[in-house]
Amino acid sequence: MIAIEDLAVVYQRAQQKHTALKNVSLTVPRGTVCAVIGPSGCGKSTLLKVTAGLIRDYSGQVRINGGEVSPQNLRIGFMPQNYGLLPWQTVADNIRLACRIKDGWTAEKTVKMQALCQKLGIEDLLGRYPQELSGGQQQRVSLARVFLLEPDILLMDEPFSALDAITREEMQDVFRDLWEEAGITTILVTHYVEEALYLGQQIVLMSAHPGTVAEVMVNKWQGSRAWKSSPEFFAKSQELKEKIKTMGARTL
Ligand code: ADP
Ligand code: MG
Repeated sequence: MIAIEDLAVVYQRAQQKHTALKNVSLTVPRGTVCAVIGPSGCGKSTLLKVTAGLIRDYSGQVRINGGEVSPQNLRIGFMPQNYGLLPWQTVADNIRLACRIKDGWTAEKTVKMQALCQKLGIEDLLGRYPQELSGGQQQRVSLARVFLLEPDILLMDEPFSALDAITREEMQDVFRDLWEEAGITTILVTHYVEEALYLGQQIVLMSAHPGTVAEVMVNKWQGSRAWKSSPEFFAKSQELKEKIKTMGARTL
């Protein structure tokens, strides 16, 4: 479980202070996906960086499975927007990277990696370099890496936004299937309302200046393809988009 209480982050640059997050509280129950949506600049990436332990200068409380945020003691899967693949390493080495650093490589991991790559359809790409792959393929490699790690929590920063619409929807399904099997506690940041409504059991709507939680919605139809193509889904998307608009925000 991820429990965030009264979180505030102030960035200091030169003599200027900028409050990126204020009064942010949210709880992500163990094994669920929380989709965070909100306009550019509302502090979504900052929220993920605090949860990942990359930003330590904050006030308030952040607990993961009851303990402190500790990248040393926890397995934190982080998927940045640009896939985070190292261009000078092959696909296979990129996939092994996080596990190698965390635990060292084992025979058991070799077996698991094979199965995962097969499931993701990337078993023929292992000898290539990231720049020799399409965006969708790079995204699959990035998913393989993070799921191979078997993280305690998974943090995804707009993971599918650089993809074209068709590939993005395909990758949402790929993620949904992997997640359903693994049931990892996940925060998924997105600026696509439909992505949040499809993949999040909980949808947190953030507003900007300063970034804070405007609304929390529970979504019991998460992951259902029938829900995704229903008139109710469409109506809910429109409603959410309107809300974001009336908050004075821009979104795609
Ligand atoms: P989002 O991911 O929602 O677009 P960010 O978390 O990246 O928002 O940024 C929130 C706000 O904090 C923005 O106004 C941004 O300009 C500012 N910000 C982000 N990182 C820094 C930094 N390292 N120093 C100063 N300001 C920052
Ligand atoms: Mg961001």
